[in-house]
Amino acid sequence: MYDIEMLYEAKSVDDAVKTLAADHKAIIIAGGTDVLVNIRAGKIAAAHLISIHGLHDELDGVSLSDDGTIEIGPLTWFHHVVTSPIVQATVPTLGDACNTPGGPQLRVSGTIGGNICTAATSGDSASTLFAYGALLDVRSVRGIRTIPIEKWYAGPGKSTKERDELLVKIRIPKDHYEGFTGYYFKYGKRRALEIATMGCCCLVKLAKDKSTIDDIRLAFGVAGPTPMRSFEAEDGVRGLPVAEAVAKIGELAQADTHPRDSWRASKEFRLQLIKEMSKRSLVEAARRGGADI
Ligand SMILES: Cc1cc2nc3c(=O)[nH]c(=O)nc-3n(C[C@H](O)[C@H](O)[C@H](O)COP(=O)(O)OP(=O)(O)OC[C@H]3O[C@@H](n4cnc5c(N)ncnc54)[C@H](O)[C@@H]3O)c2cc1C
Repeated sequence: MYDIEMLYEAKSVDDAVKTLAADHKAIIIAGGTDVLVNIRAGKIAAAHLISIHGLHDELDGVSLSDDGTIEIGPLTWFHHVVTSPIVQATVPTLGDACNTPGGPQLRVSGTIGGNICTAATSGDSASTLFAYGALLDVRSVRGIRTIPIEKWYAGPGKSTKERDELLVKIRIPKDHYEGFTGYYFKYGKRRALEIATMGCCCLVKLAKDKSTIDDIRLAFGVAGPTPMRSFEAEDGVRGLPVAEAVAKIGELAQADTHPRDSWRASKEFRLQLIKEMSKRSLVEAARRGGADI
């Protein structure tokens, strides 16, 4: 049923990266909610698994560094991202996004790091981490390097992380979140246990008058083979009064995205979602920032 040839429980991050380097077949297992499904489906045969499940001291939890950077351990469950007082006070839109995968049971087994490493365009943390410009620290026996999230996704289910690299930290610098309010909009046919047909995150920074857009970030999951930001939509509405931006943003985002047909939805339906969800996410993000719209 589960074709597992080897399971090793890493004692430390050091131990995990050394074992990963030594065994060329090995992959990491965190919560296992993707890995085990893939093994059961026969997509991974005779699996060699290195579990990081016990590495709570090194890889679990959310903290705030002295310079205001938010640091999230990859082993943090979705539920603990949602309930983190630091997340609620600084990047609440990431908390909202992490409150949507699966159901309550999944959110206390699936990790944010696993969601990033699976590299699915539908991953619920993806568009929000894109909008916040997250920095991803990976470690291997060769040392540590940082991959900005815009450079992480290499294709459906593929990342630029090497097989022997372990994601050890997710960072969001202060200037990436300070002054922004946001909204994550997940569209699916059900409210729970549903992979996103479309995910959209809008972060907005309003001018002092609360009616003009000083800055904006608009990111999508499932609007293409990888999560993406719509820079054309952002550039097209930056500096505009909120109401004018709302009227324009949907079509700009449509022109800048490349959704595909799938059994979940047609390309045309997804384009309609992109238009509508951009508008609604902007309205909600601006309202949260104090706009009267
Ligand atoms: C019933 C069900 C419903 C689901 N619903 C949703 C949903 O609504 N939205 C959604 O986004 N996802 C959903 N998922 C997918 C899954 O739960 C998430 O992607 C989850 O975040 C995976 O985390 P994990 O810890 O279980 O990862 P694992 O399964 O342990 O690992 C996933 C992948 O990441 C790698 N990996 C994990 N951690 C690291 C690390 N620190 N460094 C390097 N590589 C690592 C593994 O090798 C593997 O390739 C669902 C899954 C199930 C079973």
